[in-house]
This record gives sequence, C-alpha cells and structure tokens, in this order.
Amino acid sequence: MKIGCPKEIKPQEFRVGLTPNAAREAVSHGHEVIVETGAGAGSGFTDADYVAAGAHILDTADEIFAICDMIVKVKEPQAVERKMLREGQLLFTYLHLAPDPEQTKDLLASGCTAIAYETVTDDRGGLPLLAPMSEVAGKLAPQVGAWTLQKANGGRGVLLGGVPGVGPAKVVIIGGGVVGTHAARIASGMGADVTVLDMNLGRLRYLDDAFRGEFNTSYASKGNTAELVQTADMVVGAVLIPGAAAPKLVSREQLSTMKPGAALVDVAIDQGGCFETSKPTTHADPIYEVDGIMHYCVANMPGAVARTSTIALGNATMPFMLALADKGWKQACADDPNLLNGLNVHAGQLTYYAVGKALGIDV
Ligand code: NAD
Repeated sequence: MKIGCPKEIKPQEFRVGLTPNAAREAVSHGHEVIVETGAGAGSGFTDADYVAAGAHILDTADEIFAICDMIVKVKEPQAVERKMLREGQLLFTYLHLAPDPEQTKDLLASGCTAIAYETVTDDRGGLPLLAPMSEVAGKLAPQVGAWTLQKANGGRGVLLGGVPGVGPAKVVIIGGGVVGTHAARIASGMGADVTVLDMNLGRLRYLDDAFRGEFNTSYASKGNTAELVQTADMVVGAVLIPGAAAPKLVSREQLSTMKPGAALVDVAIDQGGCFETSKPTTHADPIYEVDGIMHYCVANMPGAVARTSTIALGNATMPFMLALADKGWKQACADDPNLLNGLNVHAGQLTYYAVGKALGIDV
C-alpha cells in the first residue's frame, strides 16, 4: 500500500502523523511511505530522517493525496485538504466530526473512508488514541500552573514545592481520570500538597491503592469541591463526561472565595471547560485574569511539546496503521471491533451513530 503523510496545515499544529520509526515499520511490512517535505520539522524530524527510514519525500500535499491509498495525519483535514481526498482513499486521523458539519459534508462528498482516532476503542472501553494526549496534557498542567503562579505572570508568587520552613502549594485536581492522574503525579513530584476529586468512588479507590497516599483523594460533592477550591493555590480542571460538554464545577461567584492570584488550569477547555469563567486561549497568549484569579485555558496543550506528543501518538497509532495497511481497512476492521469503532465515514455514508445523532444525519 502507498501510505502518505502530508505536513499539518492547521495553525499552530506542529505534530506530524507518522514518525520516522512508524515509517520504517511500514516500509519493513512492504509498504511505500511518502512524506511531504518538512512535515516532521515541527516535531524535530528532518526529511533525511524519513529517507533513512526508507520513506520518499515529495514537495506538495497535492502529489501525496493524488497517489496514496492511505493518508495518515494528526488534525482533521482542512478545507483545502478535503478537496484533495478522493473515492476509495483511506483517511486515518483525528476528525471530531460531531461539532463540524462542514467537514462531515465534505468527507461524505469525497467518497473516502475515514477512521477517526478519537473513536477507536480498547478492550476496557478506553480510547487508546486519545489517552496519550491526555497523558501529555495532564503532565503539562502542573508545569504551566506553576508558571502561572509566578508573580510576574499575575499569580500568587507561590512555589509548588515550598522550601524548608515554608509549606508547599495546595493543588486541587477535579477529575481523576487520565489527565487528573498524570497531573497529580507530577504536582506531587514537584512537592505540592495534592488532592484529587472525582465522583467515581471506584476511581478514587484505584488511585489510593495505586499511589499509596502520594496524594489525597476526595469525593467530588459540591461541598467538598467548594471547600477545597477555597484553600487551593492551583486548581486543575480534568473532568470528562464522554460525548457531553464539561460540567461547570467552579462558578464565577466562587472566585471571590479563592486566594487572590490562585491559578485555574482548565484542561477540559476542549470540551467547553469546567470553570464558569473559562474561555479557550492559545500558546501565544495562554493566560488571563478574572476577579483576581489567573486562568490558563489552552485548548491544544500537547502542541507545546510537539515532539513528545508526536512520538506518543505515533506509538499508539502504529499498530492500527499497520493493520490497515497490511490487511486493507475492510479486513482490518472485520478482525478488530475496536478499530471498527473508529470508522466514521465510508463511501458517502456516515457510519458513526453519535456523530449522526449530533448532526441530524442518518447513519
Ligand atoms: P477521563 O475520562 O480519563 O477522566 C475524566 C474523569 O472525570 C473521570 O474519572 C470521571 O469520573 C471524572 N468526572 C466526571 N464528572 C465529574 C465531576 N462532576 N466531578 C469530578 N469528577 C468528574 O478523561 P481524560 O482523558 O482525563 O480527559 C479529561 C479532559 O481533558 C477531557 O475534557 C479531555 O478532552 C481534556 N483534554 C484536554 C487537552 C487540552 O489540550 N486542553 C488535552 C487532552 C485532554
């Protein structure tokens, strides 16, 4: 199979769909890999790295879309890319179609087969191609929150780990899933006094067991949440209700009960955010202040560490990419119901129920 990897063109996207290692693996399976010149640059991979892995380099995305059987990307195809997709071509990337009727219409019109990273599942009901980005965002959250807390950035001027004679900062993490767990590990590793809130007692039991008291856990009742938020130096929003907008768990009124200069890091901003005063920000201008409380609400946090994110995503997508290339999408999806769950569009038909429901299109 000819596998193509164009350069990402969405603003501020520095990741790339195939790492040189993934290209090498595909070539060793007998496939031809074609990468657009400069596609890996944002993640620190040169054209020479891809050539050394056995891939070919072409100058334009047009050429790649024209000759390749499968296109592997990171972000949803942009309008100009959607025009290049054609009947029978396989697209493997993040799509997030539910809130995007324009993209859905174009994908249906193209006649391509599109498998979305975000709906591929694993045997435990998890989302294995979303998890690596949650791991990255979770580990980044205390780092960006610590920066936000610095005085020059408008924060309280509190050091997460404290020093001998001065206590550590209090970090409260709402949501103990993938993001929350990774955030808790890093914040407690930085010496902060960390509490994780979740509504799922089973999850709190797991965290308590697995991390043996490295951080505290608390049931996420309204009362507990309000009490902990009042005393926090940093609050990380890390909740997810699959398929729904994030619930608002800290109201604007509550900001006045918080310590002036405290930091709110809303990782759940890509689902609308879990603080009432959250609005999406960018890496170029990541923080803003409301009622004396600093907010960090970058919607694509993994982009800040594009190299780590690209490699983490590549590790997770590689086995699926190889199965699709080796067997063709029909056989690969017939053999693996988890991969089949990724199928969103085929030959002008929407094939994913939740997307159809969100957009009012028959599936
Ligand atoms: P997850 O499903 O692993 O964890 C979510 C947790 O939230 C679960 O444990 C759940 O029980 C808990 N929860 C749900 N409602 C709650 C409530 N009302 N109070 C307390 N806990 C509650 O999800 P995840 O992978 O950790 O993702 C968390 C959020 O981070 C998602 O919105 C995801 O889209 C987002 N995310 C953002 C970025 C970014 O760049 N901003 C990157 C990756 C993930």
